[in-house]
Amino acid sequence: MCEFCSKHKRKKWFLDPDNYSEKMLENKRRMNILQKLAGFGLDYELRDTAEAVRWTKHPLTKDVAKHIINKIASSTHSGQVITLQDALEIIDLSDNHVLFACGCRRLTNNKEKMCCLNFGPMRDINMGVRPKEKMEEVDRYEAKLRLEEWHRQGLFSEVIYAVPPFPLALCNCDAKYCLPVKYRFMYDLRFGLLKGHEIARVDSKRCVGCKECISRCQFGAMFLSPDENKVVIDPTKCFGCGLCSDVCKKNAISMINRQDVPGGKDRW
Ligand code: SF4
Ligand code: SF4
Ligand code: SF4
Repeated sequence: MCEFCSKHKRKKWFLDPDNYSEKMLENKRRMNILQKLAGFGLDYELRDTAEAVRWTKHPLTKDVAKHIINKIASSTHSGQVITLQDALEIIDLSDNHVLFACGCRRLTNNKEKMCCLNFGPMRDINMGVRPKEKMEEVDRYEAKLRLEEWHRQGLFSEVIYAVPPFPLALCNCDAKYCLPVKYRFMYDLRFGLLKGHEIARVDSKRCVGCKECISRCQFGAMFLSPDENKVVIDPTKCFGCGLCSDVCKKNAISMINRQDVPGGKDRW
């Protein structure tokens, strides 16, 4: 249970059907953020944040800057890593699924990939304020197929919130370009990207040391023990994306509750 779940007394905040209801749009602050996101566009938002995070590197402002940015991100807009299974469940809970181009790739690599899967009010808000923005509508079946394909490609999913616990999108990210990953690792901003609810665990009796899983981990959490030729997972580094477990042909990797893992507990 992460802090959003504890605050709202649910097991996983993004799997609570109430959080997808129309009632959530009565919150003015939330609607302002959604309007801003759609109106100025994700690229603007990312650029805006990129300006702010620079203050975390200045010796005189770093502590205050980290505190303020974490506080703002936790109460306004950011994301949490989730497994493919949870992402598929979110598709069932949400409606009006639309794809937008990934802003991080566009900004950092000048490439367009339609893998920002938005839902709920985002379709209509975007159509109203930025009708020229490229958008692809997909039904539930197609949305799930795309998610499965992105995970096969090795992308991990984040559920994005606007004033928690309201989920608005599923981002499908490559750490090489993902700005939230950079905020977390380069600027030490926890709320740049929150870790997920699970941690991967390897059953060493089943692991044959084929290393298939290691190349899937974008967070540097997996190692091959040279002594035993088995994979070992560092629970302090695992973000719980589940990409490793999806490819293990020996079914040696299971995803378990973060709070049950010493070393991973309470490290969001
Ligand atoms: S968070 Fe992920 S999918 Fe979303 S814009 Fe950034 S890299 Fe793209
Ligand atoms: S894919 Fe499975 S069997 Fe292969 S190294 Fe990873 S955990 Fe072990
Ligand atoms: S160890 Fe597995 S679940 Fe954890 S971050 Fe790496 S790929 Fe994702």
